[in-house]
Amino acid sequence: MSAATLDPWSDEQGIARAGALFTATFGGAADGVWAAPGRVNLIGEHVDYNAGLCLPTALPHRTYAAVRARTDGQVRLVSAHLPDEPWTGRVADLAPGRALGWTAYAGGPAWVLADEGVPVTGFDAAIDSCVPFGAGLSSSAAIEGAVAVALAELAGLTLDEALAARLARICVRAENEVALAPTGGLDQAASLRAHADHGLLIDFVDESVRHVPLDLAAHDLQLLVIDTRAPHTLNDGQYAARRSDCDRAAALLGVRTLRQVEDLTDALSRLDDPVLVARVRHVVTEIERVRQVVALLAADRVRAIGPVLDASHASLRDDYQVTCPELDVSVEAARSAGALGARMTGGGFGGSAIALVPRGRVEAVAVAVQHAFTDRGWRSPVFLPAPAAAGAARVG
Ligand code: ADP
Ligand code: MG
Repeated sequence: MSAATLDPWSDEQGIARAGALFTATFGGAADGVWAAPGRVNLIGEHVDYNAGLCLPTALPHRTYAAVRARTDGQVRLVSAHLPDEPWTGRVADLAPGRALGWTAYAGGPAWVLADEGVPVTGFDAAIDSCVPFGAGLSSSAAIEGAVAVALAELAGLTLDEALAARLARICVRAENEVALAPTGGLDQAASLRAHADHGLLIDFVDESVRHVPLDLAAHDLQLLVIDTRAPHTLNDGQYAARRSDCDRAAALLGVRTLRQVEDLTDALSRLDDPVLVARVRHVVTEIERVRQVVALLAADRVRAIGPVLDASHASLRDDYQVTCPELDVSVEAARSAGALGARMTGGGFGGSAIALVPRGRVEAVAVAVQHAFTDRGWRSPVFLPAPAAAGAARVG
């Protein structure tokens, strides 16, 4: 049995697809095509909203936006994935408080940019993407990022590190305020600020980043993404519940964020609620695991990351309780077939897992996970190769 792999598009393919949709929908040609990637988080899960540390990489899978500026204030949006739901309106119609569906993600950044004083005088945008939706790989940040970079450049701004950081914050506002999804900032930072062949170490105390060299191929390793295709949503209340657990625990411990917990044993002894004990233990140990991974990478001990990934998964399963049977089975099957380590990635409750796999074992690991799913009568998972790719940019 061979396993289904989702290879990324080349930029040429993405440009051709978004460009053809643009011309078929709006007529004429776009001013340009911009792309932003999905992401995987190597380590540091559910800690962005606790002022923690995360180490994501950008996927080679990207969302492409063919965009043409307008001067009449009108906005027209179309996505190849939702051809029956084109949208026409004005920038002000993209304000928070409306039921906008997918348009909140594509158009939300336009409203936030305008709200922050960047001139947005209307635009047409056609979108196509090879980032799977709702797979925990952040198709939402990819669509926000592609549109945000396009509009910023069309408004005359130059994409440098400072603008990428600003646009990441703007996309977080779009997702929080317009799409009403309470995400913490990891996804947008990765999609807009990552560099190829590097992990993006983000410190959410001040959103500063460091680009950490990550050359898995040199160690004959590959990061394999397993999209479980189990239903996943961050809007079902669980994500918000974890955030409020953390806020409650921080208040009880007298700290502003759980990042400030210095003595874990002492902190846990001061909490009565066993649920809060488990939540705090996850957050504090997960931030420590990010430091461990960064140190192992600096020491060129890449294979030693495996057990740290395993420990992260156990903590997310047992203490943070955000895994599901599909994620647990994925990581167990991957390890049994030769992965050096594996963990869920993203928000959890479905979505995707990652496995650190010796290159010669990739097919065997994928087939083992696939078998484990079919044995249980589950839908087949999809596998994505995930070399660390570049963040958002103009591509055409
Ligand atoms: P994830 O970010 O993990 O893929 P989310 O639920 O955060 O999942 O975001 C998925 C939503 O983002 C989709 O339901 C849709 O509204 C929007 N979206 C993402 N990519 C596209 C696209 N290419 N076309 C239209 N909408 C998209
Ligand atoms: Mg998302």
